[in-house]
Amino acid sequence: MNEGILLIVSAPSGAGKTSLMKALLARDPALTLSVSCTTRAARPGEQDGVHYHFVAPAEFQAALRAGDFLEHARVFDNWYGTRAADVRTRLAEGHDVILEIDWQGARQVRECFPTSVGIFILPPSIAELERRLRGRGTDSDAVIARRMAQARSEMTHADEYKYLVVNDRFDGALDALAAIVVAERHLMVRQRSRVAFAFAF
Ligand code: GDP
Ligand code: ADP
Ligand code: 5GP
Repeated sequence: MNEGILLIVSAPSGAGKTSLMKALLARDPALTLSVSCTTRAARPGEQDGVHYHFVAPAEFQAALRAGDFLEHARVFDNWYGTRAADVRTRLAEGHDVILEIDWQGARQVRECFPTSVGIFILPPSIAELERRLRGRGTDSDAVIARRMAQARSEMTHADEYKYLVVNDRFDGALDALAAIVVAERHLMVRQRSRVAFAFAF
């Protein structure tokens, strides 16, 4: 069986990454989303085990020491990490896996998975990014100010990714993401083993 595709999706906070991934997963049942561990507090409506595994700092450090994480990073004073075991199992089973992680984590994943596919999502403007963060209604003014400052530094890493999608019109961005996934599945190297008969001559 073909190993699944590992997709890395990064964006400044508020660009629409979470809403776009939710819609992409609904459209394409072959995709699965990796649920990260974080030490940040759950926002209203966020469920443990669904949006994140919410863990105490001590538990996070213990998992880190045990070598459980494929990658980890400190973002906005909180720790975030991807557990390796689950990702590796799902890829081996042939599922495509999406990691919603920051640029520091993306660098670490590229090291161990050189064939992973990086996608960066940008808002149409800085003003629109701030409008969306405020409109989401989940963060205080102080948190929004910090996320806006962090957004600028996150964006300086956009060119480390293979694809760039601007989330202006939501449906247009969603179509672009779906097209990227389909194109990656049709790379010659990924298709060859599925149609061995054509290459047997
Ligand atoms: P949001 O971006 O506004 O939805 O806020 P979050 O608190 O959910 O995420 C903050 C940042 O942490 C974003 O840049 C995420 O991409 C990043 N992040 C989330 N999970 C992980 C992870 O497992 N590893 C790494 N390295 N970064 C993560
Ligand atoms: P992220 O996960 O990148 O922080 P979210 O998915 O939480 O971003 O989106 C931030 C806010 O912007 C949400 O309230 C979402 O509904 C809204 N949003 C996302 N995409 C668009 C878009 N194309 N146009 C307008 N609003 C959007
Ligand atoms: P969430 O952040 O929980 O994924 O999304 C919050 C809500 O905003 C969802 O109902 C989602 O469908 C909606 N939403 C996200 N982006 C857009 C958009 O660009 N346009 C509209 N009309 N709704 C959106």
